[in-house]
Amino acid sequence: MIHTLDQKALAGLLERPKLRRLLDAMNGEGEETRIVGGAVRNALLGRPVMEVDCATTASPDGIMERAHRAGFKSVPTGIDHGTITVIVEGEPFEVTTLREDVETDGRYAVVCFGRDFEADALRRDFTINALSLGLNGRLYDYTDGVADLAARRVRFIGDAHIRIREDFLRILRFFRFYAEYAENGPDPEGLVAAGAERAGLAILSRERIRHELLKLLVARRAQDTVQILAEHGFLTWILDGAAEFGRFERIASAPDRSADPVERLAALAIMTEEDAERLRERLRLSNDEQRRLAAYAELLASLKSSSLPLDATAIRRLVAEHGVETVSLVLSATAGEPRPTLEKGAPEALIRFRSGAEPLPVFPLRGADLVERGIPKGPKIGELLAQGRRIWLAEGCPADEAYAKALLGRVFAQA
Ligand code: ATP
Ligand code: MG
Repeated sequence: MIHTLDQKALAGLLERPKLRRLLDAMNGEGEETRIVGGAVRNALLGRPVMEVDCATTASPDGIMERAHRAGFKSVPTGIDHGTITVIVEGEPFEVTTLREDVETDGRYAVVCFGRDFEADALRRDFTINALSLGLNGRLYDYTDGVADLAARRVRFIGDAHIRIREDFLRILRFFRFYAEYAENGPDPEGLVAAGAERAGLAILSRERIRHELLKLLVARRAQDTVQILAEHGFLTWILDGAAEFGRFERIASAPDRSADPVERLAALAIMTEEDAERLRERLRLSNDEQRRLAAYAELLASLKSSSLPLDATAIRRLVAEHGVETVSLVLSATAGEPRPTLEKGAPEALIRFRSGAEPLPVFPLRGADLVERGIPKGPKIGELLAQGRRIWLAEGCPADEAYAKALLGRVFAQA
């Protein structure tokens, strides 16, 4: 199906006052600056445009000088490859000197600065990513990107094999952009080339793989795309392990969940507690990301090990122990599986916690309560609190003050 593209949105882009000021400062006196890449693509699709990147004939020094003259702050964020971030009234824009590849090795490109917009377009990855928009409103399309955008096709610019060998990350980018923008199946030439060049993925840095994978997992057609990755032998390699499609699908299609890449990764790839550690290594996850995967793994293991159906009190206990987000994630992911099962009242209890209608259970004792009663500071306090916490969890995490007082008495009695 051919879609009509949103030409008006292109004009709208040029009317953004800050962008306009930037373009005015960066154009003229022999230099040309255009909006490039994702901003032009998304405007034509009628999608929100978050970041605006510009390409320019001006040198990096030239960009900074013009920014300075116009009173904008500029930061040389990627000076080696010619990128200066120019900040116009608080909004950052990446302005990059036009480039051409001199040498590529599958990971990094040695580039030289150029003055040719067409050459700059041709070194980009996909036709839909190579459009540029001039200050005068003219749309430049050197690669038939407009036709592919209208047909919702993601195609490599030039020979897919050659383009992948220049930078193997483009294999994952092919699937990531497919997942976000395409209709119908993947472009056959791109798919065949991706499969044939697959071994090259191994030379990429884990950070770059992580970045593309996490974006792919929250893309519009993430579910289909993950299947395609699996069918063509990519997924096991990326995850270095097995995938749980049913859980991924439940999480990706749950109307009450926001598109969170770490949640999606957990649902897809975490089956045991070791998986969390392996994925941290494999994808160089942050401590916080790893902690979330490990929390998912721990709760999953505990729920799978018991056949007791969960009632509202069990939900309360789980929320106290694992946090409401982890509980709701694992229960959504495993919905319909033989374990865990929920009794009447349990889903409602979870909804009350998630919505804030019922306050989250908080363990009522503090170390200070015991110190006040004369127990000396030290490891004993920690032990007693842990004991108290076990009792409190087992008794359903009561929240009333009378209970807290009685519990303190019981804990103290054991000291
Ligand atoms: P998004 O909205 O997801 O950020 P984007 O188009 O801005 O989409 P980026 O990954 O930010 O995508 O890259 C910006 C542009 O740089 C792309 O549109 C593409 O033209 C070019 N590009 C980025 N990475 C590569 C690559 N590995 N090979 C070739 N061109 C690339
Ligand atoms: Mg971008």
